Amino acid sequence: MDLRLTETQEAARQTARELAEKKLLPAAAKLDAGETFPVEAVKDLAEAGLLGMRIPESHGGAALDTVSYALTLMEIARADAAVAVTLSVNNLVAETLANFATPAQKDAWLPRLNTPEGLGAFALTEPQAGSDASNLRTRAEHKGSHYLLNGEKTWITSANHAGVFLVMAVTDPAKRSKGISAFLVEGGAKGMTVGKHEPKMGQRASHSCPVFFKDCKVPAANLLGGEGEGLKVALSGLDSGRIGIASLSVGILQACLEEMLRYSKERTAFGKPIADFQAIQWMIADTAVELEAARNLTLAAAWRKDAGEPIGEKAAMAKLFASEAANRAAYRATQVFGGYGYSREFRVERLYRDARVLTLYEGTSEIQRLVIARNVLK
Ligand SMILES: Cc1cc2nc3c(=O)[nH]c(=O)nc-3n(C[C@H](O)[C@H](O)[C@H](O)COP(=O)(O)OP(=O)(O)OC[C@H]3O[C@@H](n4cnc5c(N)ncnc54)[C@H](O)[C@@H]3O)c2cc1C
Repeated sequence: MDLRLTETQEAARQTARELAEKKLLPAAAKLDAGETFPVEAVKDLAEAGLLGMRIPESHGGAALDTVSYALTLMEIARADAAVAVTLSVNNLVAETLANFATPAQKDAWLPRLNTPEGLGAFALTEPQAGSDASNLRTRAEHKGSHYLLNGEKTWITSANHAGVFLVMAVTDPAKRSKGISAFLVEGGAKGMTVGKHEPKMGQRASHSCPVFFKDCKVPAANLLGGEGEGLKVALSGLDSGRIGIASLSVGILQACLEEMLRYSKERTAFGKPIADFQAIQWMIADTAVELEAARNLTLAAAWRKDAGEPIGEKAAMAKLFASEAANRAAYRATQVFGGYGYSREFRVERLYRDARVLTLYEGTSEIQRLVIARNVLK
């Protein structure tokens, strides 16, 4: 792996950094406080060519590599993790489509994911099936020219603003995990309703909602992959998605370190800046080390993906380490700020809340450890 960035990778990072500094960071606290979906930010991402950055040029995207994508998400998350997760879910849908769709499906669906109106939502989780994704109950019955979907999804990120849904549903209950299939469903499809977004602890400008299917007719042509391949489709998407969440975690780590550095030099106690106290320096040093390690694990997983290597284990390692390190960093940043770290007036309070979900979604830390152990032990 070459640790120097290519010109394209550096340019992608610079574009994301400028957008993050000029537009996302100044807006983040207000969007969070109001639980306001970042409509303008999604438009800005589309205009900057970042929304469909991994989509092939033949379908209107920027066709950038995974390293560029990871660097972009790090910059965006440093400013606003809610915007970053919206982008990351869109990309999860786009990449899964690019990998499994027929040429006709690609032509019909991929260009939409470059646009705010076609924002992607990934609908796997159900009230009774999170980590145990093989336990889905949403049914898709084959009725000749179409499938009929019935059931309920939960926690579906961007569902209330999405135009393209990737939905996993059971086509053959007897076959259990091999009886799940993946479908492309239009936002606003008849028979699909989106419930109110969950009130959340952090990343509040990102909306995650329940989605209900009642006799929702989906054309048979919208089956993605073969019948029974839905779990394979979903899990392969999540492998890449984990590089996304690891990148988000790196962005939060970076923001925590910057806040700790700035505040510890400004704030004085006992007649000197608190940065002069060894106790504060150790928290800063530990965060700097973990930031470096998390960034390297994440970029290494991205680099392997670009090299065409299998990434399941490495993406799980990056996600596990970076997400847990981001939580430790957010804890330390709050500690360095003292009482002010607990005030909604300061950015570290948001970082603390935004970091918490990183070890939960797209596979909990326990599931990442299962994936890693399975690989290490084989
Ligand atoms: C903000 C947010 C956004 C989300 N966005 C989406 C989305 O867009 N699309 C989507 O499909 N889902 C989404 N999810 C759902 C998310 O992926 C699940 O919450 C997650 O996979 C965990 O599932 P669960 O909540 O059902 O927990 P459970 O699976 O019930 O887990 C509960 C606990 O048991 C542990 N556990 C479970 N199984 C094992 C095991 N085998 N070994 C050890 N420990 C285990 C877990 O690690 C956890 O600690 C989102 C969730 C959140 C919070």
